[in-house]
Amino acid sequence: MKVLLFFLALLIALPTWALDVVATTSSMGMLAREVGGPPVKVTELAAPERDAHMLQARPSMLRALRDAQLVVAVGAELEVGWLPAAIRSAANPVILPGRPGYFEAAAQVPLLDAGQAADRAHGDVHPAGNPHVNLDPQRMATIAKALAERFARLDAANAAAYRERAERYAAATDARTPEWKRKAAGGSGAVLYHQDGAYLLAFLGQPLLGTLEPVPGVPPTAAHIEGLATRLKGRRGVVLHTPYQPSAGAEKLAGLLAWKSGIVPLDPPSGAGAEQYFALLDRWIEALAAK
Ligand SMILES: [Zn+2]
Repeated sequence: MKVLLFFLALLIALPTWALDVVATTSSMGMLAREVGGPPVKVTELAAPERDAHMLQARPSMLRALRDAQLVVAVGAELEVGWLPAAIRSAANPVILPGRPGYFEAAAQVPLLDAGQAADRAHGDVHPAGNPHVNLDPQRMATIAKALAERFARLDAANAAAYRERAERYAAATDARTPEWKRKAAGGSGAVLYHQDGAYLLAFLGQPLLGTLEPVPGVPPTAAHIEGLATRLKGRRGVVLHTPYQPSAGAEKLAGLLAWKSGIVPLDPPSGAGAEQYFALLDRWIEALAAK
């Protein structure tokens, strides 16, 4: 009896996860949780208030990667500055790029600005196209379905549940889409600090009027901001940036054009579910409507 109790206690103490997933951002973490449900453990590497272009690999990240069965990255070189090195340091062959344990969201959908000439010498951080697919709810629904297939491949026992959860997530997106589009209809568009909100603007049918960065990843200059002000004079719009992007350029341009400027996060809070992600999109749509 004692032996039996000992083994029972051991069973209870052992982790019961079917899959150990590491997501690079909170948007990717949200998708992994929504698709994975209870059998999937999700660890997020980047805090949403940090720029995922420019993270440092930390010991806690390496620990998470060492035990992971699947990495869910945004991809298209968003994490190129730190994730490949972190994966190499973690010495876990299961999650090497090209293996079933490595998944890139951006590889599942068509990308904006893909195939355009990019000049790395000038600091372009989007040489593979725009990686910021996380603010496009429709692309995220497509990615959710692709992620369900990957989960199914790694954990066949729960395959049907993963597929069903992804379908439910996509249906929730579809249900909200008409309202998002109705609220954003007729909007004048926005100048963004970086091209990170470009997919949402395209989804809503609003123009991206410009970016404060002259090239993705290159900080704004006074001459570039004055050029934007000249080009956009007489038009309406808003200037938006994320909390980790400096506000000086946005305020300068907004002042020159007599527009409003606003701050909106790029990713939902850590540990978010679909509702918090949808609420983030609501915030962006509200900010776009600021007059
Ligand atoms: Zn970027």
